[in-house]
Amino acid sequence: MAKITLDNLAHSYLPNPQGEEDYALKELNHVWEDGQAYALLGSSGCGKSTLLNIISGLLQPSQGRILFNDRDVTHAPTTERNIAQVFQFPVVYDTMTVRDNLAFPLRNRGASESFVAEQVQKIARMIAMEDVLNRKARGLTADAKQKISLGRGMVREDVNALLFDEPLTVIDPHMKWELRTQLKSLHHEFGHTMIYVTHDQTEALTFADKVVVMYEGRVVQIGTPEELFERPEHTFVGYFIGSPGMNVLPAQIEGSIARVDGHEVPLDTGYDALSGKAAIGIRPEFVRLNSDGRGLPITIRRIEDVGRHKIVRADFDGQEINIIASEGAEIGTNDTHVAFDAAHVNVYENDWRVAPSGRQPGSKGEAA
Ligand code: ADP
Ligand code: MG
Repeated sequence: MAKITLDNLAHSYLPNPQGEEDYALKELNHVWEDGQAYALLGSSGCGKSTLLNIISGLLQPSQGRILFNDRDVTHAPTTERNIAQVFQFPVVYDTMTVRDNLAFPLRNRGASESFVAEQVQKIARMIAMEDVLNRKARGLTADAKQKISLGRGMVREDVNALLFDEPLTVIDPHMKWELRTQLKSLHHEFGHTMIYVTHDQTEALTFADKVVVMYEGRVVQIGTPEELFERPEHTFVGYFIGSPGMNVLPAQIEGSIARVDGHEVPLDTGYDALSGKAAIGIRPEFVRLNSDGRGLPITIRRIEDVGRHKIVRADFDGQEINIIASEGAEIGTNDTHVAFDAAHVNVYENDWRVAPSGRQPGSKGEAA
C-alpha cells in the first residue's frame, strides 16, 4: 500500500498547449493518504479518467511528478506501479472460465495455486458468482462480465492502490448497492488506498472518507461529505452536491450585510470588501418561508413532495430559490417571503468561497 503524492501535476492532450483551457487536468498538488477511501466526483468530461490514468501509468502527464511513498514513478510503466484498476466497461478474457479470469492477476504474480483457490473462492462469493466459476466468460451478460472485472480488481491483497473508474455503470441498480457495500467492506478489511471515480454524488458520499470534487479539469475541493455540505469552497460544489443544490444569489457584501437586489440579508460575521464578482450561497435546507413579510419577496412556483420533506421552488426576481420544508409543513398563500439562517450563508468571490475578515483566506490554495 502506498501514499500517493501528486506534485505540480498537469496534463494536456495537445502537443503545444497554450492557455489553461488547453489542459484537461489543470495544475494539481495533492497527497492521497495511505489507506484512505476517496471518491473522485465530477460531471462527464471534467478530467476524472485523465487523473486516474496518470496515477496508474496508462498516461504520461505533460507536467509534474507522481510519487508512490518516496519513489518517483512518473515514468514507471503500469506493471511496476502495482495497481489494480477497474474500468467502466468489462475487460475479461472471453475464452477463459470465470475462475481463470479471477485467478489471472494472482497467477501473473506467481501466487501459489492454494492461495489462488482460496482467494478466487472468496472473491466469487463477494460478487455472487460462485455457481458460474467453471463457465467460460463468453456468453455472460455485460453485467456479469463487469462483476468479473471488479473481482479481478479486488483479488490481490498486495497492491499499492485500487482504482475504480465508474465501475458500476453497467451494473443493475440493486446489485450496485450490494457491490458498493462489498467494496467498502474490502476497504475496511485490507485498508487499501482506494480511489473511486463517479459522477453520482450519492455513490461518492456513501463510499468515501474523503471526496475530491473536480470541475473543468480542476480539483475544486477535497473534503468530508460534511465539509462539502457545510462549506462548499466553490459554487460548483454547492450546486453539484445536494438535491437540490445550493442557492447562489449575486450580492454586494458590506461588512456583515449582503445586499441582494436591494434587500438586506444579515450575515453572522463580517467580511472585507470584495473586488470580484460577489455572491452568497445558501442551501435549501437553511432557507425558510416567512409569512410575516420579512426577508426576500418570492413567488412560489411549485411544491414537490419527495417523501421525507417538501421541495419548494420559488421565484425571486427572476432567479430560482429552492427551499426544503418539513414533510408536514403547511404552505399557504401568505408565505410570500424567505429568510436565511445566517450561520449557514457562505460568501463567494468569483465563485470561490471567502473566509470572514480577520481569518486566513479560504482553502482554495489547498485544493488547486
Ligand atoms: P471524465 O473521465 O471526467 O469524463 P476525461 O478525463 O475522460 O473526463 O476527459 C477530460 C477531457 O479530456 C475531456 O474534454 C475529453 O474530451 C478530453 N480527452 C480525454 N481523453 C482524450 C484523448 N485521448 N485525447 C484527447 N482528448 C481527450
Ligand atoms: Mg471518465
